[in-house]
Amino acid sequence: MDFRFKDYLSMPLQLLRINRSMKAAPYRNKEDFEKELLVRLREMCIYAYEHVPFYKEWFHDADFSPYQMQSFEYFERLPVLDKDVVRNNYDRLISDEAEKLGAVECETSGSTGTPMQFLLDNNVNTASLALFNRTWNMCKDWNITKPQATISGYAEGEWKYNRFSKILYLSSFHLNEETVLNFYNLILKYKVKFIRGYPSSLYRFAQLLNERNLHLQFDVMFSGAETLLPFQREFIEEFFKGKVIDHYTHWERTASICECMEGRLHAQNDYGFHEILDANNRSVKEGVGRLVCTGLYNRAMPLIRYDTRDLAEWETEISCPCGSNFPIVKKIWGRIEDIVVTPEGVLVGRLDAAFKYNKNIKLAYIYQPNIENIIVNIYPFDDFSLKTEKPLLEQELRKRVGSTIKIQYKIVNKEDIPFTPAGKVRFVVSDVDKKYQNTEFEL
Ligand SMILES: [Zn+2]
Repeated sequence: MDFRFKDYLSMPLQLLRINRSMKAAPYRNKEDFEKELLVRLREMCIYAYEHVPFYKEWFHDADFSPYQMQSFEYFERLPVLDKDVVRNNYDRLISDEAEKLGAVECETSGSTGTPMQFLLDNNVNTASLALFNRTWNMCKDWNITKPQATISGYAEGEWKYNRFSKILYLSSFHLNEETVLNFYNLILKYKVKFIRGYPSSLYRFAQLLNERNLHLQFDVMFSGAETLLPFQREFIEEFFKGKVIDHYTHWERTASICECMEGRLHAQNDYGFHEILDANNRSVKEGVGRLVCTGLYNRAMPLIRYDTRDLAEWETEISCPCGSNFPIVKKIWGRIEDIVVTPEGVLVGRLDAAFKYNKNIKLAYIYQPNIENIIVNIYPFDDFSLKTEKPLLEQELRKRVGSTIKIQYKIVNKEDIPFTPAGKVRFVVSDVDKKYQNTEFEL
């Protein structure tokens, strides 16, 4: 996200107001906060009912009246809104005030399937600026006014520097053996104090610097937009000698789950309302479920009980030494699509852990064409030998996927790596029939 000067001019008062409320929100009395959250959810539902044609019918079919909503249980009457419903009802999901609200059309990158269009208004854009401001101010010595670098899918060129926001944009599309020295020099030139980006990009950057024997040090790094895998965190933290803060958000701007300095993930319910649901859309208190969110700021196209298609799990522990009262998420498992399904019907997540013992792999990803097979694609370092490395990799994979599924190994070149339009690499791409993904989770 690039912040332009004119954006600052058009929203300073609103930004100050949201900034103030966001600063206090995590530390407010839990009961008071929840009462207010219910009011905000009700207001959003009433707005949607009165201004968005789609919701009139959607609520009616669910026997839901926003005016009667007095509890979170009542809110649960509403069905879950998935991406296909949004795609098929795009025009009817637009508020009759969209233009007045400063709506801008956006699109998800569509790393699997068709991209999805939606609208974001000025209010939610201001709120997300305040949200990132809160995240970046979390650590004592860093804040939004210090020079920072972001390494993600910036595709207009190799890099650019915004003097006003002091942000150095580095393109993950252009990050390679040839450009890494230039990226390194730019970071020194602009005296960058902290860095943020896709975990896969931060990881790749650390690897390339390491190969060239170049060293950079950041006390804090912010990782977002993809699931941060444990081996990535380990390598990034060790290489840059600092802490990675994982911040889960998405373009639709309904969700924000951010790690605190104590290493726990908090669902930031002042930005969006986060629920974790089972296959029957019932709330899951323990174990894994789908993360379903309701954005609390965007009125141009409200997304109510929106299915993120990511899997997550609540922590049963309710308090955190950091003092935040936002609920704690034990783990974000990543996208439903990132799950391998075995012929026995077992769903296996976090297969990345099987690769951490093989140090000669630069990057790996798995393709599952059907329920009987997986193909492990390996982009190796020069001294990689499949013959030597395979037994250990096979052993670690078999521990997780069992003995029935067929595993093929394929060595790939840099050109073959399937970057998504946003410059990410998906760890698992699955063409397995979706019906298998709705069974119980055994992760
Ligand atoms: Zn905490």
